[in-house]
Amino acid sequence: MIVVMSRGSSAENLQRVLDTAEKHGSPAQVSHAEGRAIVVLAESTGRTGLLEALTTISGVERLVPVSTTSHAADHQKTKATADSLFGPGQFTMIAGPCSIEDRSSMLQLATDLYAAGARFFRGGAYKPRTSPYSFQGLGSEGLETLREVRQKTGLHIVTEALDAAHLEEVAEVTDYIQIGSRNMHNTHLLRAAGKMGKPILLKRGMAATLAEWLAAAEYIAASGNEQIVLCERGVRGFSDYSRFTLDLSVIPAIQQRCPFPIVVDPSHATGNRDYVAAMSRAALAAGANGLMVEVHQRPDDAISDAEQAISIESFKEIVSDCGKLAAALDCAITT
Ligand code: PEP
Ligand code: MN
Repeated sequence: MIVVMSRGSSAENLQRVLDTAEKHGSPAQVSHAEGRAIVVLAESTGRTGLLEALTTISGVERLVPVSTTSHAADHQKTKATADSLFGPGQFTMIAGPCSIEDRSSMLQLATDLYAAGARFFRGGAYKPRTSPYSFQGLGSEGLETLREVRQKTGLHIVTEALDAAHLEEVAEVTDYIQIGSRNMHNTHLLRAAGKMGKPILLKRGMAATLAEWLAAAEYIAASGNEQIVLCERGVRGFSDYSRFTLDLSVIPAIQQRCPFPIVVDPSHATGNRDYVAAMSRAALAAGANGLMVEVHQRPDDAISDAEQAISIESFKEIVSDCGKLAAALDCAITT
């Protein structure tokens, strides 16, 4: 782990970092650059407790996980994507509704999406909704539908675990456990999800900095699970034309610092189906490893997030355009 101290932080604060590292059995090396101290800590068995202790020390500006420094990136990337679905130079389509709806329409949608080029079916059985009076998802019944989609279509599944209490049943039907934007800071859930033995798709908190997002990934990694795919889904800005602001510049920033693949969700980022195709093409061009898109047979009738749902026809156009771009950029759409 690398500890970046803030500019002008006191010698006492630096000493507290070094004492804390020593207490956790982690050898430390200090360098100074551009008016700040940088401490490189070796791995230690007490890594989890160490991370927590360091975050409370004043003057600590950023913690950069050691496993996520750029020189380790290529090796780690292979490791993080054992199933090669999000490997370097690959672009994988994750598509599906916002919420899992009735069984037969989901099976039909999944079949159509597979034929159109999706390799993952997404959809929430447990939904984080802003209002408690909005549809909260079908819960276990939705998970059963996902189980059937997985068995019948060959699509991989990614679905959200909203609460640690759901982890067992979610892990049973899903290939990737999704941690949603609202839960990115839920360290208890991150740790528990990391222990489920499944890859994790970690969405960026809607107001999270890159450092906070990476620290959340570190919580999962600290549970012994480095099979993590990050998902940029837009951040809060001052946009008055889109739901959030899609931060595509985070893609190269992640790739510089971190071994984990990154996919882009243009649906939640824009909240507007008219903008989804353009942002999908942009995500590929910016170097993302895939897309997560909300698609529905009848977008206007989607139970949740109807405004951003696109039709299967529009999804096919995105796949086709991305195919052309991928060829030009020496990258491959996962088939
Ligand atoms: C979702 O992908 O289903 C979702 C709720 O998105 P987010 O957590 O990014 O808001
Ligand atoms: Mn949604």
